Amino acid sequence: MKRDYYQVLNVGRDSSSEEIKRAFRKIALECHPDRCPGDHEAEERFKEANEAYAILSNPESRQRYDQHGFEGLRGHPGFEDFGAHPFESLFQDIFDEFFGARGGRQGRQDSRGRRGEDLLYSLRISFVEAYQGAEKEVQLSRNATCPECRGHRAKAGSGEKTCSKCRGRGEVYLRQGFITVAQTCRQCRGRGRIVDEPCPHCRGNGRVPGEKKLKVKIPPGVDTGVRLRVESEGEGGIEGGEAGDLYLQLEVESHPLFKREGANLHLEIPLSFSQAAVGDDLEVPTPEGQEKVKIKPGVQTGDTVSLKGRGMPSLNGYERGNLYLHLLVETPTGLTKRQKELLAEFDRIESEKGSGSKVQRFWEMVREIFQ
Ligand SMILES: [Zn+2]
Ligand SMILES: [Zn+2]
Repeated sequence: MKRDYYQVLNVGRDSSSEEIKRAFRKIALECHPDRCPGDHEAEERFKEANEAYAILSNPESRQRYDQHGFEGLRGHPGFEDFGAHPFESLFQDIFDEFFGARGGRQGRQDSRGRRGEDLLYSLRISFVEAYQGAEKEVQLSRNATCPECRGHRAKAGSGEKTCSKCRGRGEVYLRQGFITVAQTCRQCRGRGRIVDEPCPHCRGNGRVPGEKKLKVKIPPGVDTGVRLRVESEGEGGIEGGEAGDLYLQLEVESHPLFKREGANLHLEIPLSFSQAAVGDDLEVPTPEGQEKVKIKPGVQTGDTVSLKGRGMPSLNGYERGNLYLHLLVETPTGLTKRQKELLAEFDRIESEKGSGSKVQRFWEMVREIFQ
């Protein structure tokens, strides 16, 4: 047996829509399944009240009910069809009372607008540009705040109205089973308002796609992986929101000679057998050009010469890294007959001299152990 809707909500037949709303809110607050989990009676009462409110809050269906009773509602949305009712509108009225005021969210959007998204671009620079610093031109594709409506979406002189679907909340509430979930309103995309007449230039988006060339200063000392932030050069803001930032993710090309390790540079210097033995004056490359370096006689593979302050500048601008020269003695190969004769001669003198070289000491030790 179906109860009369006015009885269900405990209101008079001549009550105002405001009274009906208040009555429903009271019952909904008492019997909402989120408040009374597992209480079957409360659940039934809630469903009953919900259906009654769906019919009586709508002037057209209320009139049909008044004139023809339940008979007049056959096929009407909401009648005996709890699941088909658009819950979002129903629940918004009471939702705030369950979960606390959510007004802050919309208020924020109103006062400051929506900030534009940050953009991330990667930028490849040469080793020399990283060493000296550079000014690079970057071509950006991005959405800029519409110059016509300044991001406010509306045609000049036209206004805005509250979104009918979410009633300005920017969110709609959906029931799935006995769980109520909040979703961003699709009609207004969470703004809570809809423009009367969209700006013709941006078609109401508030932004227009565009290209921009931008000059960017690269400080000396940057390395691969460094992200530079360029303020307010990201996507444009909407409704008075500020623009996002542009981030440039740097990739520094490697150098054919210098290996980089933080601010330090490493360079391998191959030496001929005789250069290593006799010593030499070399003009070695540095990032600043060539520089005279003295190679002492008798250097070995693996010896290093450090040139202080000839590495990369550091980003803080105060220090510089070092340049390390790694010496590598090359053993001659493909000897001619004459070269072999000369080296045999060289060896004879070396052993007569008793130089105490590693080679001589090693074989002396072997002989002592095995004899
Ligand atoms: Zn516009
Ligand atoms: Zn909406």
